[in-house]
Amino acid sequence: MQLQLQTWVEVEANLRSSRGIILPIGSTEQHGPIGLIGTDAICAEVIARGVGEAAGALVAPTIAVGMAQHHLGFAGSMTLRPSTLIAVLRDMVESLVGHGFERFYFINGHGGNIATVTAAFSEIYAARSLPAGANVQPVKCRLRNWWQNREVLQLAKELYGDAEGSHATPSEVAVTQFAYPDAIKSAPFDPPVAPSGEYTDAADYRRNFPDGRIGSNPGLATPEAGRRLYDAAVAALTKDYLSWVFGSRALPEMNNGIAVNCSSFPRKLVKNTDVREVVTAATAGV
Ligand SMILES: [Zn+2]
Repeated sequence: MQLQLQTWVEVEANLRSSRGIILPIGSTEQHGPIGLIGTDAICAEVIARGVGEAAGALVAPTIAVGMAQHHLGFAGSMTLRPSTLIAVLRDMVESLVGHGFERFYFINGHGGNIATVTAAFSEIYAARSLPAGANVQPVKCRLRNWWQNREVLQLAKELYGDAEGSHATPSEVAVTQFAYPDAIKSAPFDPPVAPSGEYTDAADYRRNFPDGRIGSNPGLATPEAGRRLYDAAVAALTKDYLSWVFGSRALPEMNNGIAVNCSSFPRKLVKNTDVREVVTAATAGV
């Protein structure tokens, strides 16, 4: 459920059954000769919407520009400074806290965002901790990179092995090909698998990785593989989201024989048995 397609009346009603919301965050940056500038934002957005549909969860507007200063040597790339991104994330989260949201589940499409998003979480928590003894609402934030779960990692390894690399990967390009088949590009790659290594600023990055790729061969991407990667990511993240948002509160209701927030549980990709597993597993850890 996209937040932007709800009314405030619907959002207020939804808060009575769930205090969680999914926030896709990506980047607008070069992805090599065939990867779309919007790759990271597109992957985060389509996967987040899939999770939202499966979990019956609200999905906030995509944060499409991230921390990508190292890509600015390539045309079309955009960045927010870390301090700017932290401010944006704080304001977005605090806006929704005021309405009663408590669980902020970020689905991330860009490795370069991780440090800054994690720092933003610390800023959000610090602002709540510093007024001594303040009796504040319990706000929790979680960051999940769509490609970093067992299911997606296994599939990417099976599909691409070492040619997956770390930037402009065939996996992320494949997901965009599945999402936007009319925007599939092709180009020769020399060498087929790009070099790997480190970088600092934009000029250093471009010197070390002249066509923008790091360690990858995105020429191996196909929309069919993109569909499989999408399905794997949505299934893994849906389970994770549901256990995080509903785990500890769900069990007492289940013990009373009452269906647990049925409308908030997944309708498509996660079956009832999976929901029971999720609740049991989450409660075991509480
Ligand atoms: Zn990317």
